[in-house]
Amino acid sequence: MAARESIAEIKQRAGRVARALAKLYPNARISLDFETPWQCLAATILSAQSTAAGVTRVTPELFKEYPDARAMAAADPRRVEELIVRTGFFRQKTRSLMGAARKIVEDYGGEVPSEMDALVKIPGVGRKTANVILGHIFGKPGFVVDTHVRRLTYRLGFTRDTDPEKIEIDMQKILPAEDWTPFSMRLILHGRQICIARKPQCEICAIAGDCPRVGVGKAARRPRRAKSGSASTRR
Ligand code: SF4
Repeated sequence: MAARESIAEIKQRAGRVARALAKLYPNARISLDFETPWQCLAATILSAQSTAAGVTRVTPELFKEYPDARAMAAADPRRVEELIVRTGFFRQKTRSLMGAARKIVEDYGGEVPSEMDALVKIPGVGRKTANVILGHIFGKPGFVVDTHVRRLTYRLGFTRDTDPEKIEIDMQKILPAEDWTPFSMRLILHGRQICIARKPQCEICAIAGDCPRVGVGKAARRPRRAKSGSASTRR
């Protein structure tokens, strides 16, 4: 949290940031295409270390061939690898998809569970994926922490932690539950468009008046690394 700011002041500031972001990004939701809980889970697994655009290029064909957990549990892994190869880390993701599908079929009758405790027991599903599913499918509050949310909550002085679960807990303390999912989705959009990792656009940022910009000067002074060419863009 920002120095010398009371919890009440942090809550008020978080509320102002939430309202400003809601005006900027009124329809914030995860940038993945899915129609069912299983498809939401599968698309979110595929989005690890990949762009949303990359995932939406492969999911139509994947969901056509394997529309639900039962179909994926019985899939030919080589065919799944072929279908998702463009998302990167395709072997690991195939193992996660098929492992998740088997668990859901064996333990939950083929239906994606709607509780955090059960979701995080599914192979390939961490709290980030579980919170996406809770918030987007089951209408339950879930604060999603990805790379953008981690960066922005720190710069905004809402947390001093970098551990996703601790960030989630810090944010749950300062925001009402109904804001958890939309606020985190809006932070993701703001992180992509304005509060960029290496070059935050503070001069045109609509929430600059409520942002202490924690660590921003230090980040700006860091030498630029050469691009690795990896798929870890996670836009
Ligand atoms: S003022 Fe700068 S650091 Fe703060 S949210 Fe905006 S772009 Fe990010």
